[in-house]
Amino acid sequence: MSTTRTQVAIVGAGPAGLLLSHLLDRAGIDSVLLENRSPDYVLGRIRAGVLESSSVDLLSEVGLGERIAREGDEHRGIYLQWTAEGQGERHHLDFVDHVGRSVWVYGQTEVTKDLMAARERAGQQSHYEVRDVELHDVAGDRPAVTFTDRDGTHQRLEADAVAGCDGFHGPSRAGIPADVRRTWERVYPYAWLGVLAEVAPSTDELIYAWHPDGFALHSMRSRTVSRLYLQVPPDEDVAQWPDDRVWEALATRLGHGQDGWTLQDGPIVEKSVLPMRSFVSTPMRHGRLFLAGDAAHIVPPTGAKGLNLAIADVTLLARALTAWLVEGSSTLVDSYSEDALRRVWRCTHFSWWMTSMLHTLPPGQGDAFDQQLQLSQLRWVTSSQAGAAGLAENYAGLPIGF
Ligand SMILES: Cc1cc2nc3c(=O)[nH]c(=O)nc-3n(C[C@H](O)[C@H](O)[C@H](O)COP(=O)(O)OP(=O)(O)OC[C@H]3O[C@@H](n4cnc5c(N)ncnc54)[C@H](O)[C@@H]3O)c2cc1C
Repeated sequence: MSTTRTQVAIVGAGPAGLLLSHLLDRAGIDSVLLENRSPDYVLGRIRAGVLESSSVDLLSEVGLGERIAREGDEHRGIYLQWTAEGQGERHHLDFVDHVGRSVWVYGQTEVTKDLMAARERAGQQSHYEVRDVELHDVAGDRPAVTFTDRDGTHQRLEADAVAGCDGFHGPSRAGIPADVRRTWERVYPYAWLGVLAEVAPSTDELIYAWHPDGFALHSMRSRTVSRLYLQVPPDEDVAQWPDDRVWEALATRLGHGQDGWTLQDGPIVEKSVLPMRSFVSTPMRHGRLFLAGDAAHIVPPTGAKGLNLAIADVTLLARALTAWLVEGSSTLVDSYSEDALRRVWRCTHFSWWMTSMLHTLPPGQGDAFDQQLQLSQLRWVTSSQAGAAGLAENYAGLPIGF
């Protein structure tokens, strides 16, 4: 087994791991990135698409804002709509008017592409397609990660710190002993059927639609590519949704019967079912192991928070590791878990709240009373200054240090 050394061993090359490596590099800290998939696989994953203003500010500050400014699309807000008793209403909620901040539509695949290019330019080491990743001695002073590289060589990577950025299914979370770890979880009784379609969006900003048949969302990835979602049962088989059925359901749930608005359809190039879950694991630090992003928490996508939380976590973590490894101060590493969790719980609540307001409950778990409460909530956030400002502040995003 060959042994090498770095300052920070990063497990996982999703947005959290890649951005952390970039921030550390700017602070003069070496890192090695370990990823079990190939670069093409990582780049091809269709996931999040909305960046909060603080994420865009951060990416711009660290030299990654140029393509966002050129190719991204700045949105002032979202549309919220509902259809009840056959009558539809659509309202625009303007974040800039309410809290002075906007959001940007820029796909996670594009963020990943920018981050991978930055890591290549920095000449920092990355190992893709690794196997058998195991964490060792994270509670002590000499943590290490062992793995088998793409050529089949067993390697041991020693480091000052290990960053677990390996998503919900990665091995890092289990590096925190079970008697120290505490988890909270909510599994929702519905899922999203997501489609990517080669058709110009039928809207200038995202539409969140409450409908008696179930929630629908009209999002987009660019001026020529639409991303659309339908609420479906949690165990839904994607084969039950041929393209015609998808477009018909989307037209029904997104149509609101006013202004002659219609949904444009087009070729569907990707279709998948996305389960909905809230999950938080604490603490986010144990000894020299630090968790960030989906490795520590999952939110349902309704509030567009998953990618933004990963960005916020690693921003805090990079500051903490820089203060520790460069300046010799452990204050921020000691408070990292608490600092990150304050924002994690805020986003967990907001994502749960948006999800609960917009999805109809299956028979036996909800009834007409629940629906009236949801409609009342929707009327309140679209008609009250205070209600709208609360949604806007959370959706456009609180400052990273919140
Ligand atoms: C299918 C799907 C759809 C989503 N859609 C949306 C959406 O529409 N809107 C939204 O806001 N959010 C969405 N999200 C959430 C958002 O994409 C995540 O919150 C975000 O990717 C978190 O980044 P991360 O770097 O923490 O984790 P990830 O992006 O999951 O990255 C973790 C990395 O670790 C790697 N890894 C795992 N195990 C190992 C191992 N053993 N060894 C080495 N590497 C390993 C993985 O391959 C991956 O590259 C979606 C998530 C998923 C899974």
